[in-house]
Amino acid sequence: MAALGSDAEIRQRAFQFLDDLRTIHGNALRREALARGFDLDGKRVPLIGPQGIFKPAVLANMPLSITTVPVNPRKARPYEDAVGEDGVIHYKYRGNDPSHPDNAGFREAMQRQVPLVYFVGLMPGRYYAEYPAFIVGDDPADLTFRVQVDDRRTIVAGEARVAEPTTTARREYVTVLAQRRMHQEEFRARVLQAYRECCAVCRLRHEELLEAAHILPDRHPHGHPVVPNGLALCKIHHAAFDRNILGIRPDLVVEIRDDILQEEDGLMLRHGLQELHGHGLLVVPRAGELKPDPVRLEERYSQFRQGG
Ligand SMILES: [Zn+2]
Repeated sequence: MAALGSDAEIRQRAFQFLDDLRTIHGNALRREALARGFDLDGKRVPLIGPQGIFKPAVLANMPLSITTVPVNPRKARPYEDAVGEDGVIHYKYRGNDPSHPDNAGFREAMQRQVPLVYFVGLMPGRYYAEYPAFIVGDDPADLTFRVQVDDRRTIVAGEARVAEPTTTARREYVTVLAQRRMHQEEFRARVLQAYRECCAVCRLRHEELLEAAHILPDRHPHGHPVVPNGLALCKIHHAAFDRNILGIRPDLVVEIRDDILQEEDGLMLRHGLQELHGHGLLVVPRAGELKPDPVRLEERYSQFRQGG
């Protein structure tokens, strides 16, 4: 009876539990669900705890997860921050003592290359999960560990295959992509919170159907992932905004493109698009510094007027 309840089995079950949660609830996971965790032979296995480095009671020494707490949502976070996009995540020791049991467990996880879950706080109570994550380095001088994310397919029966020569390059690449996803998820979480989980245009309140649109795109010099460059939109209005079917004036009035106004078709066209023409946004952030930036809207609206 090798597997059941073993360290590798528990990690595998944790990943499956997270897969299931994400399928149902999307990527911004609730802390309560993570703190409750899953059942293993009648024992509860939480995935997150009060400390950043977390080991559930069913595991012997090595942690199951590490967590970076959310930053203040009112402060813009530049791209080049602690969660940069350099392919390495720097994670602080617990306290200043390298031999604290949490740090020792972390080091053992590095030596044995066991897969962990890396949680990033998007906002208070909401976390994004990346897994499998591995400890790839230890910097006692800086009191930090280096963490990288890897491809899920490299985990076989809960254990990592690390002997491959391509492992280092692959992990760096996968981590860069993971860091981008973290920034996108953080942007989405902040925008949705500012718009009280509603579509700005139609007030739809189903989080699973909402997205954070950029007013000016990522590649634009002012296309930063900050709330004043964002709009919470449902999927259909996001797509309509991106394709210049729907425009938003700097005074926050919605316009629908002329040719679309002339069309005749079903209910979605009529109620979902044409009837919005000339109406103001239904939801905007209450705080002045979070409202959509009129200068960015002006530039975006002139693109809409030119038809793209
Ligand atoms: Zn909508």
